[in-house]
Amino acid sequence: MTVLRGGSASDVGRVRTVNQDSVFVSATLFAVADGMGGHAGGEVASAAAISILERSQGSVGTKEGLVEALVMANEEILEMSSSDASLAGMGTTMVAASLVGTEENDVLVLANVGDSRGYHFHGGRLDQITKDHSLAAELLREGSITEAEAAHHPQRHVITRALGIPGEVNVDLFDVELSLGDRVLLCSDGLSNEVDSEEIIRVLSTITDPHEAAEDLVRRANANGGADNISVVIIDALVARERDDEPTRAHVAVIAEPAAKPSLDPEPADSEKPEKVGWFARRKKMGVPRLLTFRVIGFFLLVVGVIAAGWYFVNWYATSSYYVTSSGTQIVIYQGRPGGVLWIQPKLVEVTPTSTTQILPIRQPALKTGVNEPSLSAAKNYVSNLANEYSQSVTTPNASTSTTIPSSMPRISIHHLVS
Ligand code: MG
Repeated sequence: MTVLRGGSASDVGRVRTVNQDSVFVSATLFAVADGMGGHAGGEVASAAAISILERSQGSVGTKEGLVEALVMANEEILEMSSSDASLAGMGTTMVAASLVGTEENDVLVLANVGDSRGYHFHGGRLDQITKDHSLAAELLREGSITEAEAAHHPQRHVITRALGIPGEVNVDLFDVELSLGDRVLLCSDGLSNEVDSEEIIRVLSTITDPHEAAEDLVRRANANGGADNISVVIIDALVARERDDEPTRAHVAVIAEPAAKPSLDPEPADSEKPEKVGWFARRKKMGVPRLLTFRVIGFFLLVVGVIAAGWYFVNWYATSSYYVTSSGTQIVIYQGRPGGVLWIQPKLVEVTPTSTTQILPIRQPALKTGVNEPSLSAAKNYVSNLANEYSQSVTTPNASTSTTIPSSMPRISIHHLVS
């Protein structure tokens, strides 16, 4: 399947006072019409042709429907010019591009009447798809004049086919095989007469947004003289069949532009159908996967690092301390924090020979909740001090202070306690 995105620009130029060109852009149908005829005729003819094409959108998904739309435009313009003297003799060129076929097997078809042009930009090359229906172009094709002579031929503006001319309209059709990142340029002769191929290639290679590229081409045509109305439609192939040759950098840049996705279902039915270019494939074409991968890996490592650091800190905090508490009638020492920390419960490391009856009653509430010590030896020392404190209070009941109470223990008056 193919997904397209179009952009356009149209300008009156620097010489004409009225813009008789009309353009049309949708998700699957694109067109440029260059009107001609005195008074309001030209602009009416081009607008009518575009309007009929737009109304025919439902049927231009086939080549027959596309041709029929141009035949209808021819008849309607002819009818309008016949019934209104002020529009007599009006006509218009038309170059239209329509996505034709099924989603699984579609192709961009260019339909052309007149000297507006369709170009295919692929791999840095710009190929004119349409053939000009002009006197000079026909003389060139016959070999009667050279390309240089055709470019300056006095009758180069005389066209040999148009919509609005009596008789059967003869529509040229061209299939354009699009690759991912290709561009198609539709334009009126106001561009092709003013801007050469090299300059067009430079613009198509460097300006990725189709609307901005179209505006830049119009600006260049005006800078080069702007002798005629200038209209440009640029169509980008955002999704298309892949070919073996790699897209140019410009193509890749084109794909990188965000775009409103046309409402085409990207699901192929089976593997027999043309290869679908999915999101990852398009990102790969853009060179994004490497960047994306590094970012994802970097983010993943950061998350892992934060989790590991958090885990290490919790473990360190939960196990780096000891506390003394009572268990039944016995004084015990645990490694850890009273009550535990998260998933880490305190671990019993020693049941001391000191019982709860061998310490002062005032020490027992603190022991029940647990007394923290920075190390196992400090915890043992604390228990030992408790026992000494108790034995001293028993053997020297008149002692007013205890010199064996460590600094970490709250100092209390033994004399007061045992009196
Ligand atoms: Mg023109």
